Amino acid sequence: MSEAWTIPAMTTEDRNATLFERARQLLPGGVSSPVRAFRAVGGTPRFVESAHGARFVDANGDEYLDFVQSWGPLILGHAHPEVLARLGEVAARGLTFGAPHRGELELAERICAAYPGVERVRFTSSGTEATMSAIRLARGVTGRDRLLKFSGCYHGHSDGLLVAAGSGAITFGEPSSRGVPAAVAQLTSVLPLDDEAALEQYFAAHGAETAAVIVEPIPANNGLLLQRCEWLRRLAGLAHEHGALLIWDEVISGFRVGMAGAAGIYGITPDLVTFGKIVGGGLPCGAFAGPAVHLDNLAPLGRVYQAGTLSGNPLAMAAGAKTLEILHRDEVHATLNLHGRRLEQGVRTLLADHAHWRASFVRIGSIFWLAFGARDSAPRSAETIAPEAAQLYATFFGACLRRHVYLAPSAYEVGFLSTAHTEADIDRAVAVFGEAMAETFGG
Ligand SMILES: *Cc1c(COP(=O)(O)O)cnc(C)c1O
Repeated sequence: MSEAWTIPAMTTEDRNATLFERARQLLPGGVSSPVRAFRAVGGTPRFVESAHGARFVDANGDEYLDFVQSWGPLILGHAHPEVLARLGEVAARGLTFGAPHRGELELAERICAAYPGVERVRFTSSGTEATMSAIRLARGVTGRDRLLKFSGCYHGHSDGLLVAAGSGAITFGEPSSRGVPAAVAQLTSVLPLDDEAALEQYFAAHGAETAAVIVEPIPANNGLLLQRCEWLRRLAGLAHEHGALLIWDEVISGFRVGMAGAAGIYGITPDLVTFGKIVGGGLPCGAFAGPAVHLDNLAPLGRVYQAGTLSGNPLAMAAGAKTLEILHRDEVHATLNLHGRRLEQGVRTLLADHAHWRASFVRIGSIFWLAFGARDSAPRSAETIAPEAAQLYATFFGACLRRHVYLAPSAYEVGFLSTAHTEADIDRAVAVFGEAMAETFGG
């Protein structure tokens, strides 16, 4: 009997669960990055077999409408045909050279053309490396050691950034992970977002020793904590008054909220900017960038060392450049904004119709977040997120998942729209959100 006639065995086996069991014998927690393990929401992670556009198919053969989109890189959706075609051409000419090539120039030219004040770009293999290296550069340029960051922002997992606010009036940081030396954490100060008084107080005491301030201008890693423009402006002003460099971490917002990122939205130009996610078009890539006067302090020209075997990788450069080309050519951000508005209107109508659903909808462009536990007011700092958010979200998440709508498995992660999401997909999501809210809050 030929294989074509073999009838697939009918089985009720949950292949995601079987794979996860195997994975836990091989990978700590069964994953390569912690949130993927579903520990905050419960249940079994979906093992992705394939993904196209706005959807992926898991090991059970079930299809999910995906609002995670690999946590942000896939602004054009999964497996965009033009990106795949470009990757095919480039891969056929070699996977990595460890030598300069044209692909780096094409992506760097697109970044310089899009982002204000950027004359030079250094490529890395991740966002973590980009922020870590930008901070080293700022320290090298200023000859100072102290770093200021904000609770509610995430900048990757380098030692100096895995730091939480310590106790005391003006806080020196404490490690937020085992393995981070206290001595390193103490060089990082941590303040709340959205608080001018805290900024004034910090700079009065520590401005002269501060090398850099790093902030997500659109904080999107602890919910979506949209900042007031005046606060961002005050931060830039104080940094400059005290000779510290302002680093904007646009690893999520860069090329997501517009070609000029948050700089285009707020009309503020940082001294250094970091990119990741979209700049690699789905391949491992990061970048930090700024004016020549700063970037030319990097080796080989200057005395700030930074390097990478796979930095400027031809495939990552090609996927990134093709993605930015399409974003620019098709004026994708206008379309995404319309889709974002459709989602927002749908969810706002649901919330308006159900006064006892304790959630608010936050959005900028194609980034969205449901703030559970808050009604009619969006939190602007990590400290003001409702304590019951995580528990409410876990119920909501599970209800969406059963209806094959895939959201981030954490209350503190945002959702992403891509150009592959259709109006029908958005309407489907709104309907599912309504059912899931009813399960979460009753009725
Ligand atoms: C994802 C992210 C990073 C870290 O990038 P990786 O590629 O995961 O190392 C840094 N900053 C921000 C704002 C991010 O969202």
